Amino acid sequence: MIMSSITYISSDDLMLECSKLKVINERAFVVHQLISAYKLNLMMKEVSPRLATESELRFNLWKFATTIAGGTITAVESIYSGAQIAINWCGGWHHAQRDNAEGFCYVNDICIGIQKMRERFQRVLYIDLDTHHGNGVENAFAHTKRTFTLSFHQYESGFFPNSGSATECGQGHGRGYAANFPYKSGVRGNMFVEYFNRVSKLIFQTYKPDACVVQCGGDAIVGDPLGNTNLVPRDFGKCIDTVLQWTVPTIFLGGGGYNAPNTARYWTYLTSIICKTVICDDIPDDGNEYFLLYGPGYELDIPVKEINDSNTVEAFESNYKTIKENLIKYEVCDV
Ligand SMILES: [Zn+2]
Repeated sequence: MIMSSITYISSDDLMLECSKLKVINERAFVVHQLISAYKLNLMMKEVSPRLATESELRFNLWKFATTIAGGTITAVESIYSGAQIAINWCGGWHHAQRDNAEGFCYVNDICIGIQKMRERFQRVLYIDLDTHHGNGVENAFAHTKRTFTLSFHQYESGFFPNSGSATECGQGHGRGYAANFPYKSGVRGNMFVEYFNRVSKLIFQTYKPDACVVQCGGDAIVGDPLGNTNLVPRDFGKCIDTVLQWTVPTIFLGGGGYNAPNTARYWTYLTSIICKTVICDDIPDDGNEYFLLYGPGYELDIPVKEINDSNTVEAFESNYKTIKENLIKYEVCDV
């Protein structure tokens, strides 16, 4: 007997889409089969669902994901068309995993971009400067030698995503082709830049990448509400200078950065370094609505309120040693 007062929403399409979530796999079919085995579905009014409209969704994840990933794919295509450098400050969502969103990241445009780059480049070096570990990208390429991932990040108990110790260096066939440089809160520019240069040059000379992708998450800049560094744009400018000296095709991406005016200052400064031009410290008032965000100083320079530095030269030296030893131990080369 059908009880018209009870509606059972079901369709093959609904169950099929639901099954694309790896974490639950074919659960929808399993549930439906059991309900059917008891013939309970015959007691209800079975209704096929319609699709939600764009306005009902409020946030169109599909459009979001295709647009964000499309930005980085276009950056790769511009490299194919002859550009030496491509910039996508709207990209860099390094935490998204193959089958789950994570840490504000719904789509890993970096992985999709690197995957595309590997159609033409044999070896891609990925450098992650965001203050959080670039776990999504590292995981995606942990098993391959064709992408080397290097991440600098805060690594302390309770700090998201709780991974990226210096000993993590890839898995299986890709063992040795990942490196992590953890730091504690309050890291300062002189130490950071020195060790960035030493580590990145060592990896560049050993791995000899054909192309680079650099994620420049703005949460690594002093004053970020989620980050805890004493780093300023000038420090990263020196790091970027090192990368630019390699003269391999390079893509620069954004990422985190939860202090909007400081992130804008940072990426504008990096853009000027990439364009090899000097810009003045007084922010130009071109009448745009965001100008007031830069008050009261209206300067490109970021005022530094220093926080206590918990890092030591010994710890940095130990990171460097571990990374160097792994390169030797796993015979990392230009495969
Ligand atoms: Zn971050």
